[in-house]
Amino acid sequence: MRRAADRSLLPDKDALAPDKDASAKATEEFVRLSFHGAARGVTGSCHMVEWRDRRILVDCGLLQGGRELAEENAAPFGFDAEKIDYLLLTHAHLDHCGRLPLLVKRGFRGEVITTAASRELARLVMLDAAHLQAEEASRHEHQRRNPAAGAPRLYDVADAVRGLDRFGRVAEYGRPLAVAPGLRATFCDAGHILGSASILLELGEPGQSRSILFSGDIGNDGRPLLRPPTPPDRADIIVMESTYGDRRHRPFSESLDELHRSITDAFARGGNVIIPTFALERAQEILYVLNRGVAAKRLPAAVQVFLDSPLAISATEIFAQHAECFDTPTRQLFSAGEDPFGLPGLHLVRDAMDSRAINRIAGGAIIMAGSGMATGGRVRHHLRHNLPRRQSAIVFVGFAAKGTLARRIIDGAPSVRIFGEEIPVRAQIHTINGFSAHADQGELLAWHARVKGCTRTFLVHGEEPAMRQLANRLVGQRVEMPKLHESFDL
Ligand code: ZN
Repeated sequence: MRRAADRSLLPDKDALAPDKDASAKATEEFVRLSFHGAARGVTGSCHMVEWRDRRILVDCGLLQGGRELAEENAAPFGFDAEKIDYLLLTHAHLDHCGRLPLLVKRGFRGEVITTAASRELARLVMLDAAHLQAEEASRHEHQRRNPAAGAPRLYDVADAVRGLDRFGRVAEYGRPLAVAPGLRATFCDAGHILGSASILLELGEPGQSRSILFSGDIGNDGRPLLRPPTPPDRADIIVMESTYGDRRHRPFSESLDELHRSITDAFARGGNVIIPTFALERAQEILYVLNRGVAAKRLPAAVQVFLDSPLAISATEIFAQHAECFDTPTRQLFSAGEDPFGLPGLHLVRDAMDSRAINRIAGGAIIMAGSGMATGGRVRHHLRHNLPRRQSAIVFVGFAAKGTLARRIIDGAPSVRIFGEEIPVRAQIHTINGFSAHADQGELLAWHARVKGCTRTFLVHGEEPAMRQLANRLVGQRVEMPKLHESFDL
């Protein structure tokens, strides 16, 4: 633990003129920042600020990946859930909100504050996570395996519903919200998914406050649908994601060309296209680009698209109700009465039987199903049917964390284990990272440079090599790469 290491950076009180004494005392007010997830990893975001008698969490996400991580999810948080006053949510992705039901189960009775769109999406995501855990548990029972062999069940639907009961005030972009006396939070558009925000936390009375900016996940400028990220002008300290801290994305137009090509080539071979899809944002974005591809006659008008994810279907409905969150071209489509996510050959598949029926289609279909990293969900049975077929294509359009099925396939495994069976990988594998909802290195640095006054940056939400490369490029900053449960007195 690194504690009280930075006293030397604080102004020497004796050296200050008497009229500056009050502000010096405010500057020295105790603030502790600790990291309980997404520390040298990309999932499980959970950061805590302790100030005066308040404890504020920013995000409480699920760790996603191999079995090891499942056990980490069930491990103690590293803080007392009962003592948390507020949970501020940057956005509704599972790796940012997925441990909220567990937090409530362990005694959290504070208030959850987020944007209106994140609140609706987080509701879907948490209920879906609870259902998935129940399904997983019953599958293990059904297969008469040792139930303990599966991932530990973290919470049930009732816990998720109790989590929803904790949602309180709604934050609006750019408008400071008085969370508690002397404590303000401003949610700024992060351009990552619908409702996503970076959160500026100001501690102390105006004029004497210190500020910490939590980036949340920062969006990738070049993509359709959302507005670009808009950070606040100033912050003393930044806690920043670093997912693609070591990479430059290819231009979006190249990614689009590659997607179109992978689809037309697979259809020409008589195969299907499987797109493991994150239900939030990525699914809607892909629907949008398919819609535009058909409009531009780059894809056949009658292309059959299966959105095989009740979660993504519900999320798409929520998207359609938040036109105010979109960029100008998308808003114009909405106001012209067009559905930017609609396609003539689109099938919305909610029912599990209908999902299995898709297995009978040998070619000519685009199948979008979750989960995006193929760690669970319906995409696994589509992979099982299409991975062994040379005609088919698997198109990865999102980040795949270490230890996930998606990552093993991307890394070139000749075969993978799905539902206890060894499945050969013969399909064409495409990884198209221009669709990433995350900023690349250049965009991360540009975002950081827009925030003035910051001298200390904590990098989170990245794998170590990415983090180190980004750290090297953050000039004029004291850069920290906290370990899990490490805390810093500021
Ligand atoms: Zn995210």
